[in-house]
Amino acid sequence: MNFLTRVRTRYVLHHYAIKHPLWQTVSAELQLLQGMTSVEKTHLRELSTLFLHQKNIIGIELQVTELMRVIIAVQACLPVLALGLKLLAGWTDLIIYPDAFRVSKNEMDGDGIVHHNEKILSGEAWLSGPVILSWENIKQSLQNSQSGQNVIVHEIAHKLDMLNGRANGMPPLHVSMQTAAWTAALSAAFEQLNQRLELHQRVCINPYAATSPAEFFAVFSEYFFSAPEILHQHFNNVYVQLRQYYRQDPLQRKLNFGPMRNKVRPQDVGWC
Ligand SMILES: [Zn+2]
Repeated sequence: MNFLTRVRTRYVLHHYAIKHPLWQTVSAELQLLQGMTSVEKTHLRELSTLFLHQKNIIGIELQVTELMRVIIAVQACLPVLALGLKLLAGWTDLIIYPDAFRVSKNEMDGDGIVHHNEKILSGEAWLSGPVILSWENIKQSLQNSQSGQNVIVHEIAHKLDMLNGRANGMPPLHVSMQTAAWTAALSAAFEQLNQRLELHQRVCINPYAATSPAEFFAVFSEYFFSAPEILHQHFNNVYVQLRQYYRQDPLQRKLNFGPMRNKVRPQDVGWC
């Protein structure tokens, strides 16, 4: 960080810090933060303050309150807690719809034929463009925070994935990481998930992860932060890679905090 950036950062943190009562409310509301050290929470509050200063959060037919802004910022900053806010540079807008939203796209298939598709989405991340989110889905993940579903983490994971130009399930890895180990762990789990779904076998992960490597990375990132015990139990090699990538250990955080609601029962082993 150069001198000017450092001065500007200090100014923003000093003048625009998330107010203490608001921060207390949000950190009590967000179970994702349970088990964090006070140092981690302080850092997350600072990142969220800077995030809110850098990004526009725009409600469409929705009044976005200060509480909503902070709830969104904290969850957007959680994945980059140990990576830095620079990984979320290059785009400014988060568009918030009240509920799931309809998108229509023309998509070309392998034979060059263009198909018009309409989809209902809870979130979307554009390459170098906005992140679009449904407030209803954000609320659902707040109410059921250990479900393994978190639309904000999902879209931020796509943004990180896109840092090397396209979403393909492989964000730029740290130099300390091995590309071969990442590819082997994630490819094996992706294949395993697809095979079970093809055989109509039960899976413990949202089947949407099997639609593409990009969605696999985004969905597994949701589980990594909100239901790490499921990944650790069933896809430990992926858990290890994500722990190295995000430089966080949410499972350890949960264990430090106390008993886990999602603790895997012996009869569940082998779901995946
Ligand atoms: Zn996605």
